Amino acid sequence: MAEYEQKYKAGLEKPALKLSGFFRDAFSEGEDGLPVFRMYIDGKWIESSGREVFPVDTPIDDSVVAYAQKGNDTDVNLAVSAAKAARPSIRNIAAIDRIEMFHDCAEIIERYKQDFVDVLTIEGGKTRRDAEGEVSAVVERMRMTMEDISKVSGEYRPGDWSADTRGKIAIVLREPVGTVGAIGPFNYPLFIPSAKVIPAILSANTVVVKPSSDAPLSQLLLARAMDEAGFPRGVLNVVTGPGSIGARIAEHEDVGMISFTGSTDVGKEVARRAAGKSLHLELGGKAYAIVLEDADIALAAGKCVIGSLRNAGQRCDAVSAILVVESVADRFVEEVLKAMDRIRFGDPRVEGIDVGPLINRSAAERVNSLVRDAVEKGAVLLRGGRYEGCYHEPTVLDHVPRDARILWEETFGPVVTIARVKDEDEALAITSRSKYGLDSCVFTNNFYRMWRIAKAIQAGSVTVNDFPRHGVGFFPFGGVKDSGLGREGIGYSIEEMMVLKTVVFNLEPARLGKSERPRRR
Ligand code: NAP
Repeated sequence: MAEYEQKYKAGLEKPALKLSGFFRDAFSEGEDGLPVFRMYIDGKWIESSGREVFPVDTPIDDSVVAYAQKGNDTDVNLAVSAAKAARPSIRNIAAIDRIEMFHDCAEIIERYKQDFVDVLTIEGGKTRRDAEGEVSAVVERMRMTMEDISKVSGEYRPGDWSADTRGKIAIVLREPVGTVGAIGPFNYPLFIPSAKVIPAILSANTVVVKPSSDAPLSQLLLARAMDEAGFPRGVLNVVTGPGSIGARIAEHEDVGMISFTGSTDVGKEVARRAAGKSLHLELGGKAYAIVLEDADIALAAGKCVIGSLRNAGQRCDAVSAILVVESVADRFVEEVLKAMDRIRFGDPRVEGIDVGPLINRSAAERVNSLVRDAVEKGAVLLRGGRYEGCYHEPTVLDHVPRDARILWEETFGPVVTIARVKDEDEALAITSRSKYGLDSCVFTNNFYRMWRIAKAIQAGSVTVNDFPRHGVGFFPFGGVKDSGLGREGIGYSIEEMMVLKTVVFNLEPARLGKSERPRRR
């Protein structure tokens, strides 16, 4: 274990947040010298009405690095009232100006990129590369707002196509739902809520964000950047605190839509509370990778390893179990182990580290219990398998039996899980038994098999010859079965944040459109 400890205790300084002066309104210094962040409501940086805070830990060494406000129902009500009052101010800004404001905001984020990267690394334990990728994705998302807005058009319906509406025309408008409640998970704490905030405000909605308590700070940095970019007060509000805040937002009568990303269980609870509202749910996933005998085996193995380990496996679109056809399985495993040799595990602040810690200790314990369960039931442990604190070693399991929990439950950790199957049909039978249906992928060089499998798998997306990735959302994504409802993506999320309004014009006063069918001679 000593060698293992060396790997992640890289002799670096104790993790600490040191932010640029630009963010100084967002926090003050607490008695212990650590930053105490405020919430952003109605354009002001305020404390919770209950005057309570909660600690924000870093998974790097499990120490407290900051405090955030422990918001409550009163704070949610305040944020929703501010959001409601701000609706006219965002509607009065022309779409082209809203786009420009997002472009300005993208520039501000780039200017303070290092602050965003540091916060993501420290509060979430992300490697530098993963944190930089997340910040760049938000910048790109803001720069691609023209693509979103191109979806916001209306329709003209000539009424004389129906006897009922003869003499009328209708214009179908797309209007904002009003206020969107955006509830986000810990794994992409900056990007995921941003991918809700951007289309919501672009389509002239106002927003109340509830970030994950495990990683609440990057959304506050985003609020500071949006404030600087000139978004009117009340258009964006960020309330930090426990899950009960999310529940309150979900049921609040002045919130018109809930866009939730998180686990399936919480998503179902949110859906119950948000009954009657527009609802978008991005929930848990279990992406199976199917590797067939005619695949490029080295390519498949390399992709499956990265797909399983990126962001320490804490991705809803992570490759979560690999179903490899028996005849090529030995060769595949050999290539997987070669790819694993290139993976560097340790303190995420160290340049070149690929896999850092998980979000907290209980996450590492949960992942390890899945690994132990598989081994007890007969899986062969080829690499890793140990954990300490928040760190779980990158692990490879082969011959995972059908009754192992890891074949069915979300892993959300750095494990390459390999189950051997007889053929394509057996692989498909396993995917169809899963309660999840978010992502999947297949490795084969046969066009007809690609197509047959892509059609057969019940999932929101099927990727051929690569691991699934939602990335910046240029391709739409979302789930079926227990993985969610609705689709996110550039030009897709915005569609769900608008409601149709039909404006009917009666043309009779102008003696238009009432022509009758000529009588048959
Ligand atoms: P989570 O525990 O479900 O939490 C998600 C958010 O919901 C957090 O902000 C949480 O607040 C809040 N919350 C908790 N209880 C609530 C309640 N009763 N009502 C309303 N909100 C409540 O999920 P997580 O552990 O942060 O994230 C991991 C999960 O997200 C995985 O299952 C992953 O697959 C999924 N995910 C899905 C996608 C996708 O695109 N489909 C993308 C990323 C992640 P607290 O943090 O304060 O508890």
